[in-house]
Amino acid sequence: MRSLAYKLAAVFLGGAALFYFYTSHYEVPVLMYHQVVESDGQSSLQVSPETFKRQMEFLKAHGYHVVPLESLIRDLKNKKSIPLNTVAITFDDGFLDNFQNAFPVLKEMNFPATIFVITENINKEHWLFEEDLRILDDSGISIGSHTVTHAFLPDHSAEEVETELRHSKEHLEEILGHSVTLFSYPAGGVTPPIRQAVEKAGYVGAVTTNYGKTRHDPYALHRVKVSDAHGNLFNFWFKVSGLSQLGKKRVEAKGW
Ligand SMILES: [Zn+2]
Repeated sequence: MRSLAYKLAAVFLGGAALFYFYTSHYEVPVLMYHQVVESDGQSSLQVSPETFKRQMEFLKAHGYHVVPLESLIRDLKNKKSIPLNTVAITFDDGFLDNFQNAFPVLKEMNFPATIFVITENINKEHWLFEEDLRILDDSGISIGSHTVTHAFLPDHSAEEVETELRHSKEHLEEILGHSVTLFSYPAGGVTPPIRQAVEKAGYVGAVTTNYGKTRHDPYALHRVKVSDAHGNLFNFWFKVSGLSQLGKKRVEAKGW
């Protein structure tokens, strides 16, 4: 009898320790895609349309709660608790294939997402056109800024950073006819002064890659990179577990 009580206590404590470990390391998975095109499996920035569709079907079938990035950021700012099956979907750069290959799947699943656009590429071959941006924006896909020139901001002066932040925002606002509030740092490059400049430019939140140690910083949200190497759904499951950032090397900017 006594040994049963010890065993039950051990199971309970073990479970509590595991739960504590999970919740204290958990980071809401914000998925980062780039191109959705037929892939040779070599580029870490491409996912084939077929793999993308299987990944979205996986999220749907397993009841993941796919939320707009802006509402996730709002909840983080308001310190609301985030359900453990929450996922946000993002695309960087603004490739035309996002419209051609990812958008129909997102629409079918009724999943929100955010596309971060390099504004000097708008209307160029292989990149999103103004009209595409308006259609996406009208259909639950948010458009955010990824700077004008895809500048790695830590290499630029404060004035240049400000120009990249403001001009890209204004250009998108002119196209969409409403304010643009989300930002993605090219190559994740952010330092504390750049983070501050993003806030000052009027953005409500921003995503990076693996910069900064702070979990759930609304101006430097870490993201999980998805490539065709994650075509295997077990790998993808780990990517959306909220623990895939564990043990990942963080890039420490000076003064963080
Ligand atoms: Zn980029």
